[in-house]
Amino acid sequence: MTDFFALEDAHSCGVYTKRGVMIVRGEGALLWDDSGREFVDCVGGQGAANLGHGNEAVAAALAAQARDLVSCPEILHNPQRAKLMARLCELAGLPRVYLCNSGTEAVESAFKFARLATRRTEIVAAMRGFHGRTMGALSATWNKAYRDPFLPLVPGFRHVPYNNLEALGQAVTDQTAAVILEVVQGEGGVYLGTPEFLGGAQALCRERGALLIVDEVQTGFGRTGKMFAFQHQGLQPDLLCVAKSIAGGVPMGALLIGERVGLLPGHVHGSTFGGNPLSCAASLAALAEMERLNLPGRAAESGAYLMARLRELPSPQIREVRGLGLLVGVELRTKVAPYLSGLMDHGVLALNAGLNVLRFLPPLVISQEQLDRVVDAVGAVLAEPVRATAGVAE
Ligand code: PMP
Repeated sequence: MTDFFALEDAHSCGVYTKRGVMIVRGEGALLWDDSGREFVDCVGGQGAANLGHGNEAVAAALAAQARDLVSCPEILHNPQRAKLMARLCELAGLPRVYLCNSGTEAVESAFKFARLATRRTEIVAAMRGFHGRTMGALSATWNKAYRDPFLPLVPGFRHVPYNNLEALGQAVTDQTAAVILEVVQGEGGVYLGTPEFLGGAQALCRERGALLIVDEVQTGFGRTGKMFAFQHQGLQPDLLCVAKSIAGGVPMGALLIGERVGLLPGHVHGSTFGGNPLSCAASLAALAEMERLNLPGRAAESGAYLMARLRELPSPQIREVRGLGLLVGVELRTKVAPYLSGLMDHGVLALNAGLNVLRFLPPLVISQEQLDRVVDAVGAVLAEPVRATAGVAE
């Protein structure tokens, strides 16, 4: 029998730290490996699987659209795209949208459009922020481990401490094209933005002629208990970056565009796959399912339950449990890498956020019984002696 571990490892470029498990199937919040072993999935496609695995409506929409039309670049009109654009704009409360294929592309286009709209070049981002890995998005990303191998990056980016409005006030000048912020910093350690900081950032941007870019690539589509996390704070972003769960796990990204940006000149930006009918059909089906299943409401309820149960764990290793909806972090007093592999042994796949935060991003359809399995596994691994393991990506 083919050894798929060896085959994949022989041809992988090396940038991923692998978990040593061969996942072949998923349903709802469960995944199975090639030997039939079941896992509760708190990796959730790194945020792309909010809807849950194996959703029948998305599968049917994909199959039907694949037969009708897959390729249709945006120089041609398409009904699936038209419907999706209108739906996304309605959900976000913003008038226009640019469709692309990933989170980093949504961020990249936000910077380009902010430059065009303001005729300024500087971007202010937050320390611990994560915005993607293409050169522009990477310039806004904070983590040195991702940035340093690729210096020099795009000029004109600066970082201020998250939740520090005074520092932001000092950094935003008449040269600032945009401020980019996450409502909850996901990769950076699950840190919640305060209403004072986020609301203050929006006011500051308006006052100084800069645009507010809200990066909801991780927090969008129900994850935090609302369709978009900015809706908790009553914000009105000028540019809103989304991706991950937009199309039921099918690759897609989008940049929602507000009135302060307006219509862009022709030919300045574009993408071959952007707005392709296959992703648009998947997204329309996924958004309808999210509404039908009330996934934002479920995320709010399940997130509160998960956090309450995690806070009851008696472990002295836990420094803090924090999160919003089903974006949940458990900050430990030690490194999380050994615990992630311990959790796998207990049938739970989870993520890290930095070196010492366990991060849980389950599909929003996760049941209470499955959440209980997660909490029991966390309690069990924290009670076990620490083992030596390979590291995790920061
Ligand atoms: N922004 C945020 C907030 C993210 O969490 C991520 C991915 N983790 C990105 C941007 C980049 O998205 P992608 O991996 O789809 O390029």
